[in-house]
Amino acid sequence: MKKSVIIIGGGLAGLALSIDLGKRGYDVTVIEKGNYPRHKVCGEYISIESQNYLFSICPVLMEIKLPLITHFKLTSTGNKEFHSRLDLGGFGISRYLLENLLFEEARMKGVHFHLNSKAIGIQENPIDNTYTVLLKNEKINAALVCNASGRKSNFEVADTTRKMSETNLIAVKYHVRLERDPSLIEIHSFPGGYCGISSIEDNKACLCYIVKASKLKDVQNSIPILEKEILFKNKRLKKIFNSSTFVYTEPLTISGINFNIKHPFSENTFCIGDSAGSIAPITGNGMSMGLRSAFVLASAIDTYFSDTISMVELKSEYTSFWNKEFATRVRLSRHFQKLSESPRLTNITIGIFNVFPFLAQGIMKRTHGQPF
Ligand SMILES: Cc1cc2nc3c(=O)[nH]c(=O)nc-3n(C[C@H](O)[C@H](O)[C@H](O)COP(=O)(O)OP(=O)(O)OC[C@H]3O[C@@H](n4cnc5c(N)ncnc54)[C@H](O)[C@@H]3O)c2cc1C
Repeated sequence: MKKSVIIIGGGLAGLALSIDLGKRGYDVTVIEKGNYPRHKVCGEYISIESQNYLFSICPVLMEIKLPLITHFKLTSTGNKEFHSRLDLGGFGISRYLLENLLFEEARMKGVHFHLNSKAIGIQENPIDNTYTVLLKNEKINAALVCNASGRKSNFEVADTTRKMSETNLIAVKYHVRLERDPSLIEIHSFPGGYCGISSIEDNKACLCYIVKASKLKDVQNSIPILEKEILFKNKRLKKIFNSSTFVYTEPLTISGINFNIKHPFSENTFCIGDSAGSIAPITGNGMSMGLRSAFVLASAIDTYFSDTISMVELKSEYTSFWNKEFATRVRLSRHFQKLSESPRLTNITIGIFNVFPFLAQGIMKRTHGQPF
């Protein structure tokens, strides 16, 4: 019992933490309300900062040919474009493939899985300092519980007083095939949102956009009309959509997206990934934040289980790390999200970046971390 950990949520962050702790010999259980493999709405661009860590927890990834992304292009409804080399760069891989590989690796490391199981509560047991996680028909005990249940879950503990304005956003994702430069990530702004396109495995590209929900409501909730009437106001998007072959015709969609400030430790659990706070995807780095929080927490838990630090020190170490590394990034990204919803402001930004390109480089540095 002493060295057991329950992880609620087997997304990217939860799976990474489970493998890392499994490799260190701990008894790890992941509770995941879904199953694998599965598609997820995401831009599927991973900053290079997490490549070493991903290779270390999932060596099979080294054998897969993935597109390296080194350049960035920003456009809006006008004619101007901004092109730049990415500071660190990244690579593209679908969530479908990545999470399935991590799941297989975790199973090989002896991690136990409760799939299609939703965690509905956590109880503290003060007598033996353990925790019980409640499922629908079962209870599981462990010495520690980690919350990796993502951006929007029944364990969400957002500080509602610090919410971003109440803009409700939705996101839509396709996988497409089209002739394009695989080393380029493109962001194309349109009224009320922006669309990203970048390459992934198997010569495919991920086409993913995020838009104010009110824009969809304005067109009677029709995604095809939304694309034709709103997205195509940016002529590059019209061209991309019209020259793409769609791998699956029905898009994957999610709604109710927010970028709330949350907490790295709450309700007696350590929060990693989006459950601790989600960064607006315009800065393209949520997955690396999830992986980095798993990396740091696994090492801190190892120190705690080795009786080198107390629980109070474990909490303080992890909370200080999260606040120092991520709190400013999350706040900054919310301003860029707002800006990207306005083509006029994006056009002005493109004009400024073309005159002062170092400003764009500075923003990339502030919203990304260093390799770990
Ligand atoms: C539109 C969009 C595009 C994005 N594009 C990028 C990008 O290109 N690059 C990037 O780095 N980041 C991107 N992000 C951010 C990135 O998707 C997230 O940061 C990342 O998915 C966080 O991983 P996670 O494991 O914390 O959460 P998730 O991937 O959301 O995983 C949480 C898991 O918990 C499970 N779960 C939830 N509640 C329970 C429960 N009660 N019991 C059991 N299981 C539960 C869910 O089923 C899920 O599998 C994007 C985000 C959005 C919204």
